[in-house]
Amino acid sequence: MSFEYVGDDLYCEGVSLARIAQEQGTPVYVYSRTALEGAYRAFDQALAGTKHHICYSVKANSGLGVLSVLIKLGAGADIVSGGELFRWLRAGGDPKKVVFSGVGKTDAEMGAALDAGILVFNVESEEELDALDRVARARGVRAPVALRVNPDVDPQTHPYISTGLKKNKFGIGWAAAPAVFRRGAALAGIEMIGIDCHIGSQLTKTSPFSDAIARLVELVLALEKDGIKLRTLDIGGGLGIDYEKDGDGPPPTPGEYGQAVTRALAPLAHLDLTLLTEPGRVIIGRAGALVAKVVYRKTNEGKHFTIVDAAMNDLMRPALYGAYHPMRPVHLAGRAEQVTDVVGPICETGDFLARDRALPLLEAGDLIAIGAAGAYGAAMSSNYNTRPRAAEVLVSGDRYQVVRARETLEQLIANERVAE
Ligand SMILES: *Cc1c(COP(=O)(O)O)cnc(C)c1O
Repeated sequence: MSFEYVGDDLYCEGVSLARIAQEQGTPVYVYSRTALEGAYRAFDQALAGTKHHICYSVKANSGLGVLSVLIKLGAGADIVSGGELFRWLRAGGDPKKVVFSGVGKTDAEMGAALDAGILVFNVESEEELDALDRVARARGVRAPVALRVNPDVDPQTHPYISTGLKKNKFGIGWAAAPAVFRRGAALAGIEMIGIDCHIGSQLTKTSPFSDAIARLVELVLALEKDGIKLRTLDIGGGLGIDYEKDGDGPPPTPGEYGQAVTRALAPLAHLDLTLLTEPGRVIIGRAGALVAKVVYRKTNEGKHFTIVDAAMNDLMRPALYGAYHPMRPVHLAGRAEQVTDVVGPICETGDFLARDRALPLLEAGDLIAIGAAGAYGAAMSSNYNTRPRAAEVLVSGDRYQVVRARETLEQLIANERVAE
């Protein structure tokens, strides 16, 4: 484990969180390079029996520090914007390992991705297919395309992060997919190479993956009957991580996930397909913690609040999804437990990081580590309430590197002008 107590003090690898907080201030995101690399390798090994590429979902954590670590391990990228392509290339990533997902790609984003020479566009609608055809023909190239189909499978996760149901905005309807595929194959600016799906995030069972793959398999076999040979099959991301909430069992391990995927893909063994996966959370989620400092405590009508210097702008998941994050004091002082709401200073009742949480009593100045915050933490952070975004550090052994300096107030207003 990468976040462990040494005596009474919480460490990330060989560096105490208290030291990082002292030197860099709070709130601060702390990532363990060892945990990040370990999670990537575990996922990669789980699919070792199948020809595959891992296209890390950049939106989970798009910092150049994290991207560059994964690039050194050979990772590809799943991007959802021209901005993420820019980050990937700046971090030294290979454009030929990029898949481009998302329902609203603009002409400019498509053009940039074509110019970079990405692996494949995951196309989500007929109108997008026509737009991509037009943009590619204008450049005299053919755009490699996989159709993102909607397998109508319930991922059994939070509604906001469920994407593979008929009622969601993602993908092309199951029934329409074969016809759209054939239409794409007839367009001069398009080269149809694969099928793609992504059914949701934080999945805690393997059965929705198996069910979704079973539907993709049907489609691939139907297209094969029509004489269409695919090169790629993309099963998206979505494998959940352990947020340590009481009553929630542990999610499947990468090994269990890999077995389920391999079994579900068996009917396609006769085809020369490359499996693409787009994991995000499972790669970086547990490798990161957000360290905050207690500012005040208060009691309202018998309810206890711990006010910390991190807020919903730093870590939005609790406010957005009611998400649970494990919390630990950075220094164990042997204090009694207190049930408390851990809240930030933002002027919104939704600005909480934990509700009714039993924690050792914390006092002003104490540090708290909010765990499993590596994914959709820093990446979703904002400047709401004119709060500069937190610093981010990457720990490796007994050293750490600042991979994102804390934003300054001057940077926050750099593009603004007072009215004339
Ligand atoms: C968000 C997203 C992912 C990554 O999901 P995780 O749950 O972080 O693994 C992969 N593919 C697509 C298309 C996504 O939108």
